[in-house]
Amino acid sequence: MSNCIFCKIIKGEIPGVKIYEDDRILAFLDISQATKGHTLVIPKEHVENVFEVKEDTIAYLFSKVPQLAKAITSAFNAEGLNILNNNGKVAGQSVFHFHVHLIPRYGNEDGYQPVLVNHMNDYTKEDLVKIAEQIKAKL
Ligand code: 5GP
Ligand code: ZN
Repeated sequence: MSNCIFCKIIKGEIPGVKIYEDDRILAFLDISQATKGHTLVIPKEHVENVFEVKEDTIAYLFSKVPQLAKAITSAFNAEGLNILNNNGKVAGQSVFHFHVHLIPRYGNEDGYQPVLVNHMNDYTKEDLVKIAEQIKAKL
């Protein structure tokens, strides 16, 4: 897509520091470097988010994630790595070309702090079963 910043990086119209590239995907450094080595993996085909991406495209992209994750982690002796994918503005997506963040982790104060608030006390077992049924009905 002509006004998409990641499509421009793919086409070489704006600079990107690339790690891996083949005919279907590109991995390059995230300009923000939330932590050292923070990488984005994108399909070359422009799709906005997980709701649009084709199954074989995402399957191929994720087939390369373990190798990339191991390379990033071992290059800087990271202790772990978060995989993050934001879909939609409400979910924190700011670039609307599907991308997976690979964020190597060095400790609690390293610059990335995912927070999952525990609401388990708000749901009974029956609530969970009902939630599961509602999702399953949409599969
Ligand atoms: P999102 O918030 O959509 O999940 O992530 C978008 C990411 O793209 C952000 O982490 C941001 O730093 C990164 N980003 C935005 N513009 C550019 C750019 O021009 N070059 C690179 N390498 N990364 C970018
Ligand atoms: Zn794009």
